[in-house]
Amino acid sequence: MSDTTRRTMLAASASLGAGLAASPLLAQTTGPRPAMTDTSRQAPGFYRFKVGEAEITVLNDGFVARRAEGMVRNVALPEVETALRSSFIDPNALENPYNFAVVRTGGKTYVIDAGFADNGPATTGQAAVNMRAAGIDPDAIDAVIVSHFHPDHINGIRRKDGTLTYGKAEIHVPEAEWAFWMDDARMAQAPQAQRNAFNLSRRVFAPIAGQVRRFSGEREVVPGIIAVPTPGHTPGHVSFIVASGSAKVLIQGDVSGNPWLFVQNPGWHSSFDMDAQMAEATRRRVYDMAAVERMPIIGYHFPFPAVGYVAKDGNGYRFGLAQWRSVV
Ligand SMILES: [Zn+2]
Repeated sequence: MSDTTRRTMLAASASLGAGLAASPLLAQTTGPRPAMTDTSRQAPGFYRFKVGEAEITVLNDGFVARRAEGMVRNVALPEVETALRSSFIDPNALENPYNFAVVRTGGKTYVIDAGFADNGPATTGQAAVNMRAAGIDPDAIDAVIVSHFHPDHINGIRRKDGTLTYGKAEIHVPEAEWAFWMDDARMAQAPQAQRNAFNLSRRVFAPIAGQVRRFSGEREVVPGIIAVPTPGHTPGHVSFIVASGSAKVLIQGDVSGNPWLFVQNPGWHSSFDMDAQMAEATRRRVYDMAAVERMPIIGYHFPFPAVGYVAKDGNGYRFGLAQWRSVV
């Protein structure tokens, strides 16, 4: 750079600075600074966007970190670790996030799955705070609609003290999930690892068994929200399509967990999938459809704000996060 060029640039930046100092925008920020409050926390974990006339708010309920070991049944650990490292994820501290959606459509407000409330590990249970920050009143929820009965999805329906988190909400659940998890004979025969889910299903639903609405097959559960059976992860696992005008979003529940493992490699079998073959077939069917339709997908265990897309890529799918938008 010549001296002349440097002098010209310095002069330009000096005049730019002078211009900024005179601007009323900057003047607002030059007064006394407010005292620092708690800087150890992120901004509230909610993210809002529109699907046609429907308004979706994704709420983050926290995370649990675990090791990659044992997470994929049919692939050797080094290959799993390589897949994670190549996506810049530490295989020894793989964070599994929990995100559920609040859907406002047709003048009603619905919660799709419910997180942990105060029943989970210390790094979970953030959804109540995030819901408040998003300006949503739990008493204004018209219905809770459930994808499946795993604890991270239903525990938040009822707090530890037994009270219902969404006091005025109807509860809608897949009939096939109810039939499986509320079956006492099946519970008696279940392996120890599944006992927790059987017990929690009773904790949440038994006191309101008569009021729980059960749906089956592909059908509109409430106006604007269509249930699509997506079994494999659990026997009666269901996903939901929110449709408004020509716009749609797929709320996939646990069709896959971590996208860099199981979307990119749909043939990898998660240790959380109860019927791994069926879960793989479901993944391929669901993602083939979403890829053709270029449909956005909300994944319960996708990284916040948990909205992404899939595209066909060889024998698997390429995963892309949706762009974070600063306007709704
Ligand atoms: Zn889950």
